[in-house]
Amino acid sequence: MADINDIIFAGGIIATIILIAWRNNRYKNTIASTANNHFLPDDLSQEVTLVYAGDELNFPDEIIITVLEKYFPYFRVLPGEKKKIFLMRIKKFISSKTFVIHNNSGFREMPILISATAIKLSMGLERFMLPHYTHIHIFPVEFLGLHPNLRVLTGNVSGNKIHISWKHFLEGYQFPEDGQNVGLHEMAHAYYYQNFITREDVDNNFADQLHIFNDIGNTIFEKEKNNTTPFYSSYGLTNFQEFWAESVELFFEKPLSFKNTYGELYYVMVNILNQDPSGDILL
Ligand SMILES: [Zn+2]
Repeated sequence: MADINDIIFAGGIIATIILIAWRNNRYKNTIASTANNHFLPDDLSQEVTLVYAGDELNFPDEIIITVLEKYFPYFRVLPGEKKKIFLMRIKKFISSKTFVIHNNSGFREMPILISATAIKLSMGLERFMLPHYTHIHIFPVEFLGLHPNLRVLTGNVSGNKIHISWKHFLEGYQFPEDGQNVGLHEMAHAYYYQNFITREDVDNNFADQLHIFNDIGNTIFEKEKNNTTPFYSSYGLTNFQEFWAESVELFFEKPLSFKNTYGELYYVMVNILNQDPSGDILL
């Protein structure tokens, strides 16, 4: 008779088989993998996990700007002065993180675009560094989460780490108006946790305004759960944390629909993040 350890073990094997099958069947070329611009030396190609200290990456400004101009529309439309601020912030952010790539090769787009996502979300904030999150783990595709239970993930935050599936991260930008962006989603969790749980490096405006989000958002959260055609996805309605993270995705990806559907909540988001994607990017 199987005991609980056997069941967990069997569950692990099944989940691993499913994951391997997905990797084999669903992996497809990404914008980065077709760009032929590895930033890793070839002699590390046999390594399974690659670790890069951000302060040793030292990407020249031109490289960062080229990647952002090519793949990050938000940066492309910023006015010149704001581009300078974005560049200064992203360099500081990259240099403060350790990037762990769970693959035998990596791309310079990985640290640049994942960091750019944090800077985009926090561009209107004074505090943007997320010091609690020292490590960013990048997986090529879906990965297994072990706690609190075994499951397949496309992204999550836990401890001092942000985990992202690169395939899903890129899909977030390949479909920029579908309201789903795992990079923004995980960064939304991270900024919430940094401000409300660690209570370190708190951005006062963000923290103050988020209390208003909790009040107004809760009413809409309950309303959406009974809505036959909800604006939010069923995942976004699992709990209030997911509702917050999905609100950030919808704010940047569907600002006009968000404004038309839940105008009051939309403008709470504008005040929290100090930017308005439906019009001028920065207030
Ligand atoms: Zn989430």
